[in-house]
Amino acid sequence: MQTKLTFLGTGTSGGVPEISCTCAVCLSDNPKNKRLRTSVLISNENLSILIDCSADFRQQALQYKIQNLDAVLVTHTHHDHIAGVDDLRSITCKTGKMNIYIKDSEMPSFKKAFYYIFETNLQKGGGLPDIELVTIKEKCRFSVKDVVFEPLLVFHGIIPILGYKFGNTAYITDAKSLPDSTLMVIKGIDILIINALRYKPHKTHLNLEEALRIIETIKPRRAYLIHTTHDIDYEKISQELPENVFLAFDGLVLEDIVLN
Ligand SMILES: [Zn+2]
Ligand SMILES: [Zn+2]
Repeated sequence: MQTKLTFLGTGTSGGVPEISCTCAVCLSDNPKNKRLRTSVLISNENLSILIDCSADFRQQALQYKIQNLDAVLVTHTHHDHIAGVDDLRSITCKTGKMNIYIKDSEMPSFKKAFYYIFETNLQKGGGLPDIELVTIKEKCRFSVKDVVFEPLLVFHGIIPILGYKFGNTAYITDAKSLPDSTLMVIKGIDILIINALRYKPHKTHLNLEEALRIIETIKPRRAYLIHTTHDIDYEKISQELPENVFLAFDGLVLEDIVLN
C-alpha cells in the first residue's frame, strides 16, 4: 500500500506572502512562493494523520479535501502550529473523537489556548472539536493504527519540542538545535524534513546555513526544507541547494513514504 506525505503548508508563522509586505517574493506570481502555515498530512487508504493543525487548517482541509483524520500529532503549541484545532470540529462531528498527541511539557499551554473545549461549566452553544489529548514524551514510541511514531527531542531556542520519526522519514520543524540523542536516531535516514527559516540567523529557528550543516551531519538520502519566510525565493534557492536537498512547497507530495 502506498503511503504519501503532502505538504499542506511550508511557511513560517506569518505565512508567505506576509500581510502588507511588498518584497519581490511576497509579490511573486510563482505558486511555489505562496506558503500557508507549516503542516503535513500522512495518508494512505487506511490512514490519515496530520502533523500540526496550522492556522491555515481550514483552507488546507478544503483544498486537499481532508474528510477524516485518525489523529493529530503536535510538534509544539505555538499558535501557527495549533490554531486550526477549533476547525477539527467539522471533522469530528462526523467521525467522532480524535486523539491529539502532545508533549507532556506543552500540555498546559495547549489547554490554556483552547480552554473553552475543556471547561465544563461554560455555556455550550457552537460546536466543539471532539478531541482526546494524549500525553507523549521524547523517545517513547506510540502507534496510531499500527504505524509507529517515535517522538524526537529538538530545541526551539531553549524550549524542548518534538519532531517525529515514522518509517523511513523524520519530520522536524521549528528547531534551532538537535541533541546528539536525536541525531543518532535519524542518522542516515531516507527522507528528512527540516526547518530552515531564512538566510540570516535567528534566535529560535535554524537558518539555511545551520539546516544544511545538520543535513550534512545526518546524511539523509533526501532532505526537504520547510517553515521558510519571504526571504526565500523558490527559483533562487533551488539553484543554490545541494543535489539531495529541496525546498518543499505547498502541495508537494512525496509518494515514497515507507511506514514501519
Ligand atoms: Zn512555527
Ligand atoms: Zn514555533
